[in-house]
Amino acid sequence: MPSYARLPVEFVRGEGARLWDEEGNEYLDFLCGVGVTSVGHCHPRVVEAVRAQADRLMHVSNIFYTEPAMRLAERLSRSSLGGKVFFTNSGAEAIEAALKLARRARPGGDVVVAHEAFHGRTYGALSATPQEAKQAPFAPLVPGFRAVAADPDALVGAVDERTAAVLLEPIQGESGVWVLPEELLRAAREACDAHGAALIFDEVQCGMGRTGSLWAHQQSGVVPDALATAKALGGGLPMGALITGPRLADVLRPGEHGSTFAGGPLVACAALAALDVIDQPALLASVRELGARLAAGLAVLPHVLEVRGRGLMLACALDIAAPEVVRRALLEQRLVVNATGPDTVRLLPPLTIGAGEADEALARLRGVLEA
Ligand SMILES: *Cc1c(COP(=O)(O)O)cnc(C)c1O
Repeated sequence: MPSYARLPVEFVRGEGARLWDEEGNEYLDFLCGVGVTSVGHCHPRVVEAVRAQADRLMHVSNIFYTEPAMRLAERLSRSSLGGKVFFTNSGAEAIEAALKLARRARPGGDVVVAHEAFHGRTYGALSATPQEAKQAPFAPLVPGFRAVAADPDALVGAVDERTAAVLLEPIQGESGVWVLPEELLRAAREACDAHGAALIFDEVQCGMGRTGSLWAHQQSGVVPDALATAKALGGGLPMGALITGPRLADVLRPGEHGSTFAGGPLVACAALAALDVIDQPALLASVRELGARLAAGLAVLPHVLEVRGRGLMLACALDIAAPEVVRRALLEQRLVVNATGPDTVRLLPPLTIGAGEADEALARLRGVLEA
């Protein structure tokens, strides 16, 4: 279906930060399949883990235990909120799980979301995504969502005894990489505590090391009650999770939510391998360092008005049309990036890049912007 405006390139192979098209041209991938291949393409540890598990056991359903899923749940919980984990196949499904969990904890409660948020395309997640162009064609949406400005006063004013949850991306990704101020996250935490609502962070894009800590909220000091992850979690395979803190760990009862595929041993092994690569102090330090290097390099390129983001989750606002820049970057300079708006280019490189690849991307972008 024509639901994507695809670019005229067919990729056939990938390795690290490189992709090759069917004519043998080599590209530098600074999009990572929209924040998915954070360990680079075909990382040997992920490939080996998948290969070994594919030989052993691929699927049994969540009616049974499997060792990889249990090990992954424990690791995700230990690395973040200390509660329990619900596995999903995607980011939107992790958000659906969060919404159902919040409503189960406070029946009939509203969910407060921020303007320009993006939480996914399924009906619940879409209803939590207050963007006219994405919602309007699909009305009526799920009731019970309240969208407020990403501003502490507006947010606090929207939370009361009928609020089930406040759902926020610590860094809004799809709308153009907007880092929510720490005071906003803190105000949300206090309002939720005051009224018994759940604070849920959507770290589908900004989590899994992308900003230089395993989870983005760990740099803010604000701890949510639940956290959604997906995109990079599976090292390139479809995998998501909702991780709770202790308060929400046992809210869902048997039979109240489920997924046939989610958390299967194959994707769980891929995720464990991806975590082995990403959850390392040296790699996370490199993300912060190269993020700063890239941001500084972007800021001095022609036509760049502003650079936003944290770690290797970056966007630059341009004084020219971003879709045209993206097209030229791809076809002329063999650099994969994407546009999140009419004048914004986003960079989500692999977290495993070196300084040389960061500089190479900057040089290719300079070539496009100068042309
Ligand atoms: C991509 C994204 C989603 C949706 O994830 P899918 O896997 O596409 O369903 C949800 N929230 C955020 C912040 C995202 O970036």
